[in-house]
Order: sequence, then structure tokens, then C-alpha cells
Amino acid sequence: MLKTKVVLSFPPSSVEEPITYHLIKDFGIMVNILRASISPGKKGRMVVELSGEESIRSQALNYLESKGVEIDELAAEIRYLENRCASCTACVPVCPTGALDVDRNNWKVSFFEDKCVVCLSCVDACPYRAVEIGPE
Ligand code: SF4
Ligand code: SF4
Repeated sequence: MLKTKVVLSFPPSSVEEPITYHLIKDFGIMVNILRASISPGKKGRMVVELSGEESIRSQALNYLESKGVEIDELAAEIRYLENRCASCTACVPVCPTGALDVDRNNWKVSFFEDKCVVCLSCVDACPYRAVEIGPE
């Protein structure tokens, strides 16, 4: 039995296709969507846990690749180091999911791990190294 967490990156052409449905119906893969950032006409990204028979893993991965979906093992998570964060807000516009967001009442930036799709955009954007890549 295969059970693995992966990051799926969808090209705009595949964002509106029922790809997870086909993984379940055609390959018997169970798809547990942990986090997702999907907008019609734009690139999408999902962190998912896949469970299914090892023997059909390569078929399912081939299917995803045929749809232009990039597959990366979830080897890392984002760590937010609050003590280094200056709430400069540089990360907020580059975060596609609102996982890094600013409270406009006090201009304090916070990290919401459950929204993070590990796109890594914030890592380069942060001048204070308050977001790091850590092990999953
Ligand atoms: S990696 Fe950073 S920019 Fe990407 S979703 Fe997570 S918090 Fe937002
Ligand atoms: S860019 Fe870095 S220092 Fe600035 S708000 Fe985001 S995490 Fe905090």
C-alpha cells in the first residue's frame, strides 16, 4: 500500500479538469487534500496525501504527468520564526493562499500553517529570514 504526501502543481490548462476524480475512479487512489490553492485560468497547487496500491503508482503518476501536473514529494514544510518577523509585510502579496497575512488593525503579520501549500515564494521574499524551509 502506497501512502505518501506530495505537492501537485497544476498548469492553467489542467486546473479545471477533474484530475483527483480520475485518480480515485480510474486508479483506485485515495486522495486526501490537505491544502489547496486553485484558481480558474491560473496555476494551481495542492498538498495531498495519496493512498493506493504500489503497483498502480507509476500508472497514476504517468497520468498526472500526461496532464502537465508536476509532482514533488512533500519533503519540507515552512517554519515561521515569529521572533525574527518584523511584520514588514513583504511576504503577504507573494503568498497565494493567505497563509501569511496581515491584521490591518495592528499591522501584525501571522502565519497560518493550515493554508500553506509550500510554494516557497515567501522564503526569497523575506528580508529577515523569518520563514525557513524545514523538514516535513
Ligand atoms: S510557502 Fe510561503 S508563500 Fe507559499 S503558501 Fe506557504 S506561506 Fe504562503
Ligand atoms: S517578509 Fe518576513 S519579516 Fe516581513 S512580514 Fe513576512 S515573515 Fe515577517
